[in-house]
Amino acid sequence: MNNTTLKIDITKINASKIPDTDFTNLVFGKTISDHMFVADYADGEWSNARIEPYAPLSLNPANATLHYGQSVFEGMKAYKNEAGEILVFRADANQKRLNESAKRLCIPEVPEELFMEGLRQLLELDKDWIPNRPGYSLYVRPFIFATDDYLGIRPSEKYKFMIFTCPVGAYYSKPVSVKVECQYTRAAEGGTGAAKAAGNYAASLLPALQAQKEGYDQLLWTDGKSHQHIEESGTMNVMFLINNALITAPTTTGTILKGITRDSVLTLAKEMGVKVEERFLRVTELEDSLRNGTLQEAFGTGTAATIAHISKIHINGRDYVLPEIKEDSFSSKILNTLDAIKYGKIADTHDWIIKI
Ligand code: PMP
Repeated sequence: MNNTTLKIDITKINASKIPDTDFTNLVFGKTISDHMFVADYADGEWSNARIEPYAPLSLNPANATLHYGQSVFEGMKAYKNEAGEILVFRADANQKRLNESAKRLCIPEVPEELFMEGLRQLLELDKDWIPNRPGYSLYVRPFIFATDDYLGIRPSEKYKFMIFTCPVGAYYSKPVSVKVECQYTRAAEGGTGAAKAAGNYAASLLPALQAQKEGYDQLLWTDGKSHQHIEESGTMNVMFLINNALITAPTTTGTILKGITRDSVLTLAKEMGVKVEERFLRVTELEDSLRNGTLQEAFGTGTAATIAHISKIHINGRDYVLPEIKEDSFSSKILNTLDAIKYGKIADTHDWIIKI
């Protein structure tokens, strides 16, 4: 599909679900807006771009995604500023990352215009679903999946690219407790850890559930080879402020998702004059810093929470409690700055905001 031929057919819902929606009681991912964007891939090209009422899909039981998981996705958020304009945070970065993930899974890339124009028209149509109260936003879920009805294992020849959206409430930013995982592996070098591949998330469920049974909210994943250094936390990148240096794992090994919040936080930290170290933190180094009090802050970064403060870390049978986070802590300042940018309250000097 080239730039000049993109036409999106729109079929509107008869009656919006908005009057039946309780916007004060939103559970993440449960309430879905009225419309969805769909495009089909066949014979080597994307076509049939359309927006339709959100509705179930009809799939053949032999659908390739159901059996072999050839599927990738993205997650980002749209906000409303005080003037009621629609602002999307770094959607261009999500578009690029979706295609990076797609390449790893032998899925055809989605042209930039198809992604951005589909997103723009969907948000325009469902703009009344974007909550305009502090902390609230519209979560946007783009995804591509195989649609061949064929049980042979090979890249599918047909795919669907879809986007739907969910209004989401203020993420309850209660600090989280995490367990350093030294048995299970999220990603191995040469694997799919750097891609937002559906199967990565299925594989993480059992170890995460185990940690929850033990009383921890999330895992701190270690590397698959030695389990001796920290990689990510749940569905977030993770950062540690130790001796005034901000330490986070590099994204060069192919085992860590290149978080867009991660990149935003590192950019702001450097501008604030904070020393940034993109290097692996050894579990022993983390434990030493917890014992000798040099660890000042630890937090996850991701689209859902922006910043999730960590209050407790479990390492090999021991719980360590972290210092309490204050309003003037580094991660609180970063969170406030990012929120102010996302809601259009301060100047967007990085060109992170896409106005629809
Ligand atoms: N790591 C993983 C495994 C994730 O699923 C996510 C969520 N997309 C992140 C990190 C954070 O990425 P982002 O800041 O782009 O949401």
